[in-house]
Amino acid sequence: MAQTALAQHLIGGEFLGGADKERENPARPGEVAVRYPSGTAADADAAISAAGDAQPAWAGLPAPARGAVLLRAAEILRSRQTEIAGDLVREEGKTIAEATGEVGRAIGVFQFFGAAGWSATGATYDSALADTTVRTNREPLGVVGLITPWNFPIAIPAWKTAPALISGNSVVIKPAELTPMSVTHLARALQEAGLPAGVFNVVHGPGRVVGQSLAEDRRVAGLSFTGSTAVGLGLQTTLNARRARAQLEMGGKNAVLVLDDADPRRAAAVVAAGAFSLTGQACTATSRVYVTPGIRDAFLKELAEAAARFTPGDGLDPATSMGVVVSRPQLEQDAAAVEAAVSAGATLHHGTGIPDGLGFGPVVATDLEHGSPLASEEIFGPIVAVIDVDDYESGLAAVNDTPYGLTAGICTTSLAYATDFAARVQAGVVKVNRPTSGLDLHVPFGGIKESSSNTFREQGHTATQFYTWEKTVYVGIDR
Ligand code: NAD
Repeated sequence: MAQTALAQHLIGGEFLGGADKERENPARPGEVAVRYPSGTAADADAAISAAGDAQPAWAGLPAPARGAVLLRAAEILRSRQTEIAGDLVREEGKTIAEATGEVGRAIGVFQFFGAAGWSATGATYDSALADTTVRTNREPLGVVGLITPWNFPIAIPAWKTAPALISGNSVVIKPAELTPMSVTHLARALQEAGLPAGVFNVVHGPGRVVGQSLAEDRRVAGLSFTGSTAVGLGLQTTLNARRARAQLEMGGKNAVLVLDDADPRRAAAVVAAGAFSLTGQACTATSRVYVTPGIRDAFLKELAEAAARFTPGDGLDPATSMGVVVSRPQLEQDAAAVEAAVSAGATLHHGTGIPDGLGFGPVVATDLEHGSPLASEEIFGPIVAVIDVDDYESGLAAVNDTPYGLTAGICTTSLAYATDFAARVQAGVVKVNRPTSGLDLHVPFGGIKESSSNTFREQGHTATQFYTWEKTVYVGIDR
């Protein structure tokens, strides 16, 4: 049996906190994966104070010196990639290959923003005034709060932390309670890389206590949140009331439109990868498919075959190609959603929707109404609803008929349809002939509609815009 990992708060450079809470390995009931402390509002207050004290000196370092710390942290993460990935599987349940890839993403993010320390920020303009230059500076917000979900427990903290730090901010992060260990590894790497005490702080604990403290505290100049739409919209109200900067990336109900001119096998591979990788627990996962009549039967046959190739189970077993659902309540929720759909007349083209121990194999549901709960509510499991549409126009209308707008895809060999879809689909990310999940780290990412606050994008060079104010400076030289 694996040793239980210990997650701790990091406040003012000290790892603190008793191990009063336990997180079970979702694939091995009874095995405690992590012990972690449950933070309080007082812990959040102490972390915010430490971050406030440390931030001016950190911002005063040259950006390449800040970048050097990030680059060293990337190297430390790389040297521990196997260990961190193992802990990630034990606390979250995805496969070891997916977890190794996710740690690799965190490393890449730290390399990207570490190197960005060498890129100039701001711009210089010719002023309309005589003997005057005008330039813009990008200045750090100060202390920023980060609140993160369980489904990418190291990649999301990394892609918020790295742009925050390279911009000269200090950070207080509250990770999801289901996955406290991954951020603890990140904290260790940053400390050992030489990050000054207090610049990066971690407080574990319940969202409505620790997370709410970060949202309410006036010393926290900006808050970046990733999680469910319900929680995000509540935080937005709190942040707007005190006019703090808010970045909220939230839920999705991502759709793929499969057209007659597509290759059925390729389209099925795109849909299966988007729907079933990461056990369907990616915010960018495919959960709706609209299919036109000429390809429907061939596509469904290929999709069932692709679904059958997934082997659900313990993510630490190399033979497993689909990890377990993150928790018992989530598993019950997934099963109930499928059962309700079947009671309402849906056909299961693949899968049973009945948990097999902890496994929950892929489900392909057909004979559904477009507006039915399985086809319209975010469920967060390896379940895809396949719905018939008459043609491209009705398919596009169905894809857009949702409050969400995170990712969307189309499978087609028609350049005309691909181009039109990319222009008219309501989503922050569009994929043509590629799965809706899976993102490059160097390009902007974010949703529209109720999937996002639509304020600032994450990832890529523009990610630093959220973490900086733009100041315009005029300098007159009188000779
Ligand atoms: P969640 O909203 O339950 O929790 C997210 C974080 O918010 C956790 O750290 C939680 O403790 C905290 N929190 C909960 N209640 C809070 C409150 N009242 N005040 C402050 N903080 C609070 O989400 P989850 O179940 O951890 O993650 C799954 C959700 O995340 C899904 O909806 C998924 O679509 C979304 N997600 C979105 C993206 C994206 O980039 N758009 C990426 C990954 C996940």
